[in-house]
Amino acid sequence: MALIVQKFGGTSVANPDRINAVAERVAKYYKEGNQVVVVVSAMSGETNKLLSLAEEMMEDPDPRELDMVVSSGEQVTAGLTALALINMGLKAKSYAGHQIKILTDEAYGKARILNIDSNKIQDDLKAGFIVVVAGFQGVDSDGNITTLGRGGSDTTAVAVAAALKADECQIYTDVDGIYTTDPRVVPEARKLKSITFEEMLEMASLGSKVLQTRSVECAGKFKVRLRVLSSFEIKGDGTVITFEEDEKMENPIISGIAFNRDEAEVNVLGVPDTPGIAYQILGPIAEANIDVDMIIQNVGKDGATDFTFTVHKRDLTKTLKIINDEVKDKINAREVVGDEKIAKLSLVGVGMRSHAGVASKMFKTMADEKINISTISTSEIKISVILEEKYLDNAVRVLHKAFDLDKG
Ligand code: ADP
Ligand code: ASP
Ligand code: MG
Repeated sequence: MALIVQKFGGTSVANPDRINAVAERVAKYYKEGNQVVVVVSAMSGETNKLLSLAEEMMEDPDPRELDMVVSSGEQVTAGLTALALINMGLKAKSYAGHQIKILTDEAYGKARILNIDSNKIQDDLKAGFIVVVAGFQGVDSDGNITTLGRGGSDTTAVAVAAALKADECQIYTDVDGIYTTDPRVVPEARKLKSITFEEMLEMASLGSKVLQTRSVECAGKFKVRLRVLSSFEIKGDGTVITFEEDEKMENPIISGIAFNRDEAEVNVLGVPDTPGIAYQILGPIAEANIDVDMIIQNVGKDGATDFTFTVHKRDLTKTLKIINDEVKDKINAREVVGDEKIAKLSLVGVGMRSHAGVASKMFKTMADEKINISTISTSEIKISVILEEKYLDNAVRVLHKAFDLDKG
């Protein structure tokens, strides 16, 4: 007998028929003698709808009330999934996050899970129930409902699996595993049998939204066995996230290509090349709780330099306002320019560590296609570039081919 956590994303619970299909899959595992905990997302499109509704009431919705509104989508699907299971003659019980005490910090909209009281779930499992948990939500120590950020049901599932010491956490979605890149952009993308935890963490944080980054972090921290599979297919082993990097004799140089269209670039031009400039620019941004991703300061020339950083597109207007109102004159910058029409593309692979020449091949491939790169950043296992958004799809395709990712 195994204890399995199965998470179903928005498209997998999009309507009553899909929910019945989910219930059948769950029932199959259960009838084989396993204990099953199900974590569900809201029906696809529902979270966006709830966000728009809140924005209709108030331009910049109060964060506490916004979480109250957007968390409701998952509560609906949790109850519906339990109903589907009960209707099949099985014992099932659903819970909202606060009922099983998914305790989080107070950061509305991007709360972190601190603890899960697994006793209630354990008791139900022992009594033969299938437990259904609403994803994406928790409760802070004052009893306020919080949400975990977009894609947060993945993190609920992994955290529940960690708390219960489950044998496996299965993430069911609308693709049958992790691919070398988003199969919706590159049809030749190849499904991976396994991917190392480190690579998956990079892929997710660099924009592959198939798993929320925090879910991968949590799997790493608690060594949760994680697998991504399709809820639309009956057969298939999906992709396993492994911790045994050394198991493979030789790692491919590049395992995948991730990209992100959500970032915007901010250029602060002609700033004095003196100590403390980076802090003066980024300090007020951090104070406003805006996350900064890439940061590049160019080499100074004639005592002046340009400073570039990226933020989420939704934060661009606010960021430009802060820089223009509070920073520009203070540091004597010549000009501040924002650019929304950019994208970030990243090559990821643990094999990169031991291979030189990946960057030059990447830049040559892009140069041959006349694709300009504005910003570059590297780490041991990734190279990221910023380019004009309109070239992104083509860049992903040509790089996928150039690095033979379509070949197994
Ligand atoms: P769910 O609603 O089930 O949580 P998501 O839309 O969050 O599903 O994640 C699944 C999607 O992730 C896929 O439809 C695919 O377009 C996208 N995706 C991005 N990168 C990858 C990748 N490397 N492998 C597989 N899917 C990817
Ligand atoms: N429903 C939430 C979202 O759309 C959480 C999730 O699906 O994981 O982001
Ligand atoms: Mg998702």
